[in-house]
Parts: sequence; C-alpha cells; structure tokens
Amino acid sequence: MRVVQKFGGSSVADAASIKRVARRIVATQSEGNEVVVVISAMGDTTDELMDLAQQVSPDPPPRELDMLLTAGERMSAALLSMAIADIGSSARSFTGSQAGIITTGTHGDARIIDITPGRIVSALDEGDIVIVAGFQGVSQTSKDVTTLGRGASDTTAVALAAALGADYCEIYTDVDGVFTADPRIVPTARRIPEIRYDEMLEMAACGAKILHLRCVEYARRENVPVHVRSSFSHRPGTWVRDAEPSEGEPMEQALISGIAHDRGEAKITVVGVPDRVGVAARLFRTVADAEINVDMIVQNVSHTLGRTDISFTIPQSAGSRTIEILKAIQAELGFERLLYDDQIGKVSVIGVGMRTHPGVTATFFGALADAEVNIEMISTSEIRISVVVHSDDVDRAVKAAHTAFSLDAEGEAVVYAGTGR
Ligand code: ASP
Ligand code: MG
Repeated sequence: MRVVQKFGGSSVADAASIKRVARRIVATQSEGNEVVVVISAMGDTTDELMDLAQQVSPDPPPRELDMLLTAGERMSAALLSMAIADIGSSARSFTGSQAGIITTGTHGDARIIDITPGRIVSALDEGDIVIVAGFQGVSQTSKDVTTLGRGASDTTAVALAAALGADYCEIYTDVDGVFTADPRIVPTARRIPEIRYDEMLEMAACGAKILHLRCVEYARRENVPVHVRSSFSHRPGTWVRDAEPSEGEPMEQALISGIAHDRGEAKITVVGVPDRVGVAARLFRTVADAEINVDMIVQNVSHTLGRTDISFTIPQSAGSRTIEILKAIQAELGFERLLYDDQIGKVSVIGVGMRTHPGVTATFFGALADAEVNIEMISTSEIRISVVVHSDDVDRAVKAAHTAFSLDAEGEAVVYAGTGR
C-alpha cells in the first residue's frame, strides 16, 4: 500500500514526541507500506513566529511572512527525518517547493494548482520514507515560497495522497477522531466511526477545527479516503469517505451526525436600508468585491417609511474592513447606521438523516429554548441547521443540542493534548 500520514503540531511538540512519531512511521513502513509523511510545525511554533513578526512590524510584507512561517515546518521535517535515521531507517525531507507543490501567488492563502511529485516518487522507489513540510508550496508565477493558510497541512496531505495515488490518507491529531461535538465542550461526545464527505464538509465549514475545510473539499473531489485518528493511541479513528455500494450493507445512517460551533464570526446590521430593488445587490456586491465571505443573512420585514434592516455574518478578521467599505457607500445607499457585534457564536446541527426526517428543527429549537438560549439568526441547508447565539450561550447551546439528539456517550472522550485550534 501507499500511505500518506500527516502529523499535527501537538503530535510533534518536543524531541521526545518527534522520536515517538518516528517509531510509528517506521512501523508503518515495516508493515510493507510506502510512506509519505506531511508534518506541521512543532507545537505553537507558527503562532510564535507570527508574534515575532508582529514585534518587528505591525504589518509585515506577506512575502516575508511566508518565508518566516514556512521555516517552522522545515524544522520539524528535518528533525523527524533525523529521528528516523537514528532508529535505522532512511528518510528524506523536502520543503513544499522541493516536493513539487505548485500554488497561486496569494501569500498566506495560496491555492494548490498542480503537484509534480517526481522527487517524492524517486525517493519512494529508492526505499526511503518521504517527509514533506506541510502548508507550503511555491508560486507558479513568482517562484516565491507561499503558505496555504492556517491549518492547511491537512490539505497538503490529502493533495499529495491524490497526486501520488495513495490508498488512503491518515491525519494524526490529539483526539481519537471526529466527535459528535468538540470533546473540550461536551466530555460525553462520541467518536463518529465513519462520516460522508458532505457531512464532514458541513462540519468543517461550521467551525469543527479537526480538519481543514479545503482538505475535505479536496478529499471529496479526488475521492481520497481519510482516516482521522490520534497519534497518542492506536485506536481506530474516523473514516471520512462515501460508502462503497459494492461493500454490501449501506452505512447505518444516524439522524444527526454532530454539532459544530464557531466563535470566529461577527454580525453586522445595516440599519434603515431603503426598501428598494437593487439595494441588497449593491450592498453584497461591494462586500464580495472586497473578497469578504458572507455567511448568514437576515432581512427584516420592512418597517416604517419603507425602510428595513439587513444583518449578516462575516469572519471576525474581516470586521473592520467590512465596516470601512460599507461606510464608503452609506451616502449612495442611504442607510441610517451600522451596528457591529462580535459577541456571537454559531451552533450547527448536521446530518444527512434530516433530509428525510421532519421535526429536527423543532427538536433543536426546543432544546435551545429549554436551555434559555436566545436565537439571533437562523440558516439552513439540506443537511444542516445553524443558529447564531450570544457568545456566552455557545457552550450551553452545544450541550443542549447534543443531549436533545441523544448523542451522549456513556464514557468520556480523551483529549490527549493541544487546544483543538
Ligand atoms: N503550522 C501551520 C499552522 O499552525 C499549518 C498546520 O499546522 O496545518 O497553521
Ligand atoms: Mg489542524
């Protein structure tokens, strides 16, 4: 078999962990597999490098920030390779660029365009274990080093698995897989043995930090089976894949797969918008042109004098920019004022089972009411219901929904390390 294994930062936080991971990789190879490893920076290295950059400049040039951040993964890749050599196996480390990961030129948020894994394949052919520095590549046009966004080593791993025709991709983390809710909030959360790409996509898009969103998109598009599991135990984790019809029995389908939450959004309310054709289009065109992603939208019924209020959510990181660009068109659109609220959180209930089961919304809202959580906004898809609530209510809302859909396990989930970021 050909296997890609990705180890996150909390799995390689210090020298002892690097040696432990090295033994695990060598064991996989000894079972007769070709092994490609994608590695994150040690522990909180990426955050520390970001802090350091801030200390020398409040607004570092994105190109230089990428030069700096990619060093974190380069360190752990080289150290891991040394640890493997030390226990008598042969490994070769590569930067993203050396591994043939070609990207767009957007520093800090580059997209993979192509992978030319020639050097990886030769190294595998020569019997080596290959270690690739995660979350980085090289720009097709400028030839500068790029990064793929925070948490994107997952994406590197799945993209490499697809390019190398690997049998599957293992994502090693600090919990035993994907849980029905964040076990840091709901200790009785249950491991999900198997989940479909669509559901995992909704979970990741709704704030589940366990897998990078683009990694799941990639896995679904390229049909790469992903096994999310702990590097601290040998327990089976969660398989992310679509059931093979040929495997006989269809996957047993739970009504609700899990509850996700996200504290990273902010709500903007545009107060007193003239209720005219084209105003909303102009408003959201302006936001879109600034490449700001809008998530939920609510427009109130028109109140006095043909005016209405429009609320929407955006990433908190884009908050001040959004306010600025809206102020610039205030006179043109004729709205009264803007309200900004970042004391919010989004709680989502996800499951393909809800397609065919009425009453999921009623159960969810009933649980929130019993927990005295006020709903500020609502949005739905075929397999998801999301609400925006006050940030202080997020934990209570997640727990209430988890219990209402009978997801609680008997025992408690183990969180081995890390912050779940
Ligand atoms: N080290 C990078 C980060 O902290 C990439 C990753 O770990 O996936 O965001
Ligand atoms: Mg991660």
